[in-house]
Amino acid sequence: MITITDYNFKGKKAIIRVDFNVPLDKLTFNVLDDKRIRAALPTIKYILGNGGAVILISHFGRPKNGPEQQYSLKNILPCISDLVDLPVQFAMDCIGDEAIRHSKSLQPGEVLLLENVRFHKEETAGSIEFAQKLSSLGDCFVNDAFGAAHRAHASTTQIASFFPADKMMGFLMKAEIENAQKVLTYGKKPFAAIIGGAKVSDKILIVENLLSIADHIIIGGGMAYTFIKALGGNIGNSICEVERIPICLAIIEKAKLNGVQIHLPIDSVIADEFSPTAKRTNCLSNQIPDGWMGLDIGEKSSREFENVLSKSMTILWNGPMGVFEMESFSEGTKSMASAVASATKNGSFSLIGGGDSAAAVLKFGFENEVSYISTGGGALLEYFEGKELPGITALAS
Ligand code: AMP
Repeated sequence: MITITDYNFKGKKAIIRVDFNVPLDKLTFNVLDDKRIRAALPTIKYILGNGGAVILISHFGRPKNGPEQQYSLKNILPCISDLVDLPVQFAMDCIGDEAIRHSKSLQPGEVLLLENVRFHKEETAGSIEFAQKLSSLGDCFVNDAFGAAHRAHASTTQIASFFPADKMMGFLMKAEIENAQKVLTYGKKPFAAIIGGAKVSDKILIVENLLSIADHIIIGGGMAYTFIKALGGNIGNSICEVERIPICLAIIEKAKLNGVQIHLPIDSVIADEFSPTAKRTNCLSNQIPDGWMGLDIGEKSSREFENVLSKSMTILWNGPMGVFEMESFSEGTKSMASAVASATKNGSFSLIGGGDSAAAVLKFGFENEVSYISTGGGALLEYFEGKELPGITALAS
């Protein structure tokens, strides 16, 4: 696979697949978090600085049936222009006459943004014809959309086949893969993974894969209660996937065989309802009374998990320890963010999976105190599940 720095962009129109799926304010349509746009700037600026023109393609939200104003990339055009520091041109459709006209007149040093690729159902269907139409607008293809690399869609995967010698990763994609490999392939021991979030079912594959690489797996959040029930605990009304109990027991067994230590929260912050104003108290996680539910890890658990992290040289974090969106149940997640930051300060490498864990690190002000925050939620999870990411495979073949 060629890399972006090996390629001569002079006089070329580079199609860059970016992931500009940023959150918007529902009323004003202002961009609430521009991290994903900022993350693509090094690639955009490098190509412009090396004599190329840039054609940006992206998805935005999940439109159901063709164009919808709330999912138009035009909403974020001012923000992109500000960050790129250039007036960015816009084509109201990503294929067809207007896109062709704009791309033909595009000059070196200029940037064109095409409308949301998901306004065409052929995008998610992975249509080769649609991919061909997109590809005809440029001379080379750069994929910088790590957040969409696990999708086999036309603009992430099929499009690459039209550029047999002119396709490559952007700087963001390269950084994401390199940082994931720092954990998966080159991680120093001991390696601790913190896995949380609502459901066991979403995280089973990653936990199974980690059983052959990690030394410690810390399990928190709602998913911990299925494990605790599997071990015979009383979890009251805590979230639980009863049908997953056998797989939880199998994981605990395999961990023993592999010498991996699984850490479950010994105590919990419990509430009488799923609400920010619920009555709350603390108790052992395997003695939660009926009518109460565990919504955060307790202080003893935080201290134990912090102790594990303080001795770990490599840390992966995916998923919160509790319902951190509610102030009353955010302390456990905050304590993990702080412990990961301290370990990083003491020389550990820490990778924060996108989605809620990235949001938590940001919320508690530790974004500059961890080694790397991934821009990909689902994509990073699949990478750590050991799956191939079609967006990356397509660049290699
Ligand atoms: P996920 O998308 O699977 O990483 O899950 C994140 C969501 O899990 C967040 O919105 C949390 O509020 C939720 N969550 C974390 N802990 C619990 C819990 N103990 N009970 C219910 N939901 C939880």
